[in-house]
Amino acid sequence: MNSKQIFLNFGEDLEIARQLVAANHVLVQRGVLDAFGHVSARSAADPDRFLISRNRAPALVELSDIQEMSLDCEPADERPRYLEAYIHAEIYRARPDVRAVVHSHSASVVPFSVVDMPLKPMLHIAGFLYPAAPVFEIRHLAGDHSDMLISDAAVGADLARTLGDSAVVLMRGHGSTAVGRNVPEAVFRAIYTEVAAKAQAEAVKLGAVVFLTAEEARSTTATNATQISRAWKYWCAEARTALANK
Ligand code: MN
Repeated sequence: MNSKQIFLNFGEDLEIARQLVAANHVLVQRGVLDAFGHVSARSAADPDRFLISRNRAPALVELSDIQEMSLDCEPADERPRYLEAYIHAEIYRARPDVRAVVHSHSASVVPFSVVDMPLKPMLHIAGFLYPAAPVFEIRHLAGDHSDMLISDAAVGADLARTLGDSAVVLMRGHGSTAVGRNVPEAVFRAIYTEVAAKAQAEAVKLGAVVFLTAEEARSTTATNATQISRAWKYWCAEARTALANK
């Protein structure tokens, strides 16, 4: 399949595919993804399919790398997929409201997946974490000898169950996954989960922390939802400039 055919085959998903390419670069630029991690979006044409890059480092992803996949993680072409595509598939299966997913290993979040202190919103920009990010324990299903990856549908479904109605789920000793109603919202949540984790880790060193109330979390989340496009446009411009200067 050449890139022109792939381009034409996106159909009404072309805009989403373009957003996904931008999201890959934004998340690298913002320190959420490195060689690993991935971002996906549900197809607008078929809610039982999603778009995601083929198995490639996010900084290198181009439009021709975007691959369409079923909820059984069967790609529409023969190029190798990410090992953990089940994270995305099983969340789309469990959460009809979710239209974009970011899975990352971002450095400041991981410590909260292994200690008994929950990651909770204390920053106005991270109200979506209320009341606290749930933590997925892979040992419940995979035992204590797994490679820690979400590499089959059963473990993926267990992760989606732990996510429940939340915006973000932490994965013990591994990373986290953020969801959204569109690509910019999932990217916003992934970026500010990393920012919030860094801030909480700093704050607890200084003293007792005041967290947002339920009402503050709700109000800030509602207000911030109207401002995501401002951040998204800036982050895309920043990532374009970084790419152009390479
Ligand atoms: Mn991973």
